[in-house]
Amino acid sequence: MADDTIFGKILSGVIPCDEVYSDERCLAFRDVAPQAPVHVLVIPRKPIESLRSASEQDEALLGHLLLVAAQVAKQEGLEDWRTVINSGAGAGQTVFHLHVHVIGGRPLAWPPG
Ligand code: AMP
Repeated sequence: MADDTIFGKILSGVIPCDEVYSDERCLAFRDVAPQAPVHVLVIPRKPIESLRSASEQDEALLGHLLLVAAQVAKQEGLEDWRTVINSGAGAGQTVFHLHVHVIGGRPLAWPPG
């Protein structure tokens, strides 16, 4: 399946990124418009559009993304952080390639906007 999203282009090397972690299943890089001192995106190499379109086949991959998110947060020196997955435009998703936001480095209010 063609992935012509910005993240698909980052994965194929067409668009550069500020990489912080990479393995055979995922890539993590700094958000271009950070909402906190640390704002990293963890994305699967597999082109899953959104969490709502993930399937049971993706169970291990989804777990891996969360473990990598925690690893990256610790690597960035965070003790507390927030992981966010926006699913659908109404929830704030703007790039339709699944991604986990890792946000931290400042106090984070709840509920989010
Ligand atoms: P979402 O709104 O949950 O879909 O998140 C998409 C995120 O991707 C936003 O926080 C954007 O700032 C970020 N973003 C968009 N383009 C790039 C890019 N080229 N490199 C890094 N982050 C990006």
